[in-house]
Amino acid sequence: MTETEIIIIGAGHNGLTCAAYLAMAGLRVKVVDRREVVGGAAVTEEFFPGFRNSVAAYTVSLLNPQIISDLKLAGHGLRIVERRAQNFLPAADGSYLLTGTGRTHQSLARLSPRDAGRIDAFTRELEEIADVLRAFVLRAPPNLVEEFSVASIREAFNALGTAGILRRLSLPQQRSLLDLFTRSAGEMLDDAFESDLVKALFGFDAIVGNYASPYAAGSAYVMLHHAFGEVNGNKGVWGHAIGGMGAITQAMAQAAREHGAEIQLGAGVREVIVERDRAVGVILDNGETVRARYVASSVNPKRLYTRLLPADALPADFLARIKNWRNGSGTFRMNVALNALPSFTALPGDGDHMTAGIILAPSLGYMDRAWQDARALGWSREPVVEVLIPSTLDDTLAPAGQHVASLFCQHVAPELPEGRSWDDHREEVADLMIATVDNYAPGFATSVRGRQMLSPLDLERQFGLLGGDIFHGALTLNQLFSARPMLGHADYRGPLKGLYHCGSGAHPGGGVTGAPGHNAARVILADHRALFR
Ligand SMILES: Cc1cc2nc3c(=O)[nH]c(=O)nc-3n(C[C@H](O)[C@H](O)[C@H](O)COP(=O)(O)OP(=O)(O)OC[C@H]3O[C@@H](n4cnc5c(N)ncnc54)[C@H](O)[C@@H]3O)c2cc1C
Repeated sequence: MTETEIIIIGAGHNGLTCAAYLAMAGLRVKVVDRREVVGGAAVTEEFFPGFRNSVAAYTVSLLNPQIISDLKLAGHGLRIVERRAQNFLPAADGSYLLTGTGRTHQSLARLSPRDAGRIDAFTRELEEIADVLRAFVLRAPPNLVEEFSVASIREAFNALGTAGILRRLSLPQQRSLLDLFTRSAGEMLDDAFESDLVKALFGFDAIVGNYASPYAAGSAYVMLHHAFGEVNGNKGVWGHAIGGMGAITQAMAQAAREHGAEIQLGAGVREVIVERDRAVGVILDNGETVRARYVASSVNPKRLYTRLLPADALPADFLARIKNWRNGSGTFRMNVALNALPSFTALPGDGDHMTAGIILAPSLGYMDRAWQDARALGWSREPVVEVLIPSTLDDTLAPAGQHVASLFCQHVAPELPEGRSWDDHREEVADLMIATVDNYAPGFATSVRGRQMLSPLDLERQFGLLGGDIFHGALTLNQLFSARPMLGHADYRGPLKGLYHCGSGAHPGGGVTGAPGHNAARVILADHRALFR
């Protein structure tokens, strides 16, 4: 048996962030993870001899600048660069949209002068509301407390602070906020634009990791969720971490270790130990016991409460509700080793568009059909694929003259209909994804030297992501803010004393942000200081 002040379950980027802040504050911290590498879904691995790539998460924007600075990630080797063009959307008729600083207007004007005149107002509206979200990212949302207590007073002040942020918004901005939280992205985009490609540009963000049609109510929030990031101070843009997403988590691990945190890998947690309504440690898969004053979990909340805690240790209503926690992204992830760059029919040859997020989904209707198909058949006959070729910005990933690409593919069913298994259909669906890219860039299929395929089942097996859910739980209104993971537990404190949530199942949700880890650390420290005042 070993003892520590806090044990953190999971060395994903949030567990590491939480560990680093707590270790910096002087706590004795131990992090355990069932995998042999740190990083959770933010890792870089060699997937084909000589070719490395970000295996799951593949592009950076949401990582909070305050955390980058506090953890001194640049000092630990993290370098994030911008794409030379943001997005490239080719269409089957040979037209395309290319976005990025100094490009968007010109490119859009060729498709629709009317939309070119409207896009600034639309992005300004999105940006203003994204600023509101930014103000909430590094603070706990107001938590509901039933009885009068110290906690209820604390939460009353928190609610006042929240109201203060919202009060700064003008009435039109408050209306936009309401729209973005409740409407479908599809309706909002149909109202704003006429060009299919510009609608698809924004609509893609509404269905990433969200197993839904862009016309599903609430999908506008997912679009907003992908807009609150920044790269090196440039808001709303996406970039690349040199060395892949693993460079972020390697830097975080270094920061945590530098301040004394211990990270034990290959150490899965079998059970959280509960004594007299208090979490007091964990039992590892190898039988080892680690006792601790606090336990923080960065695993999906449903996984934590249904697999790692004894059912009789939990309030029955809490357990019943968390069993209904909605998981499941419609994503299939591939990494491919290429002997040449693709050449797109719509814009042949090399160019800055090779550094962009290349979205193969030319309309909202296409995305809607992809979802309908996946529900009926298990995957879409015409899937949505984002292609990103990080080796165009980073020569550490592939041999000279060759490339790696991430293919982020939607929609596939988290569980296949009629009891079929992803183990029997992985190859077939991977072929379909490659053929889809080949339709837009003939010759792509023959340039593929090696491939890695991750179905929703593989994402669950490899990373512990239930139903392959990339966010640790759908970003629906009933699972956001004060309801993440449940009303009454949005303050990062679980239903047992000493148990905390520090992963993406807590506010503000999924994405490589570091925010849940940061916010949980703040709450744990507040409780620790209150105890030892
Ligand atoms: C395919 C895919 C693509 C994505 N693309 C992007 C992107 O481009 N940009 C972006 O910002 N976000 C992206 N995301 C989302 C983002 O990666 C995740 O939301 C985020 O990494 C989750 O971080 P986390 O630390 O909260 O949890 P995780 O990274 O899931 O870490 C949890 C850790 O807990 C460990 N664990 C689980 N069970 C146990 C146990 N019993 N005992 C011990 N350890 C355990 C796991 O091994 C894991 O390391 C993507 C995710 C996926 C899956």
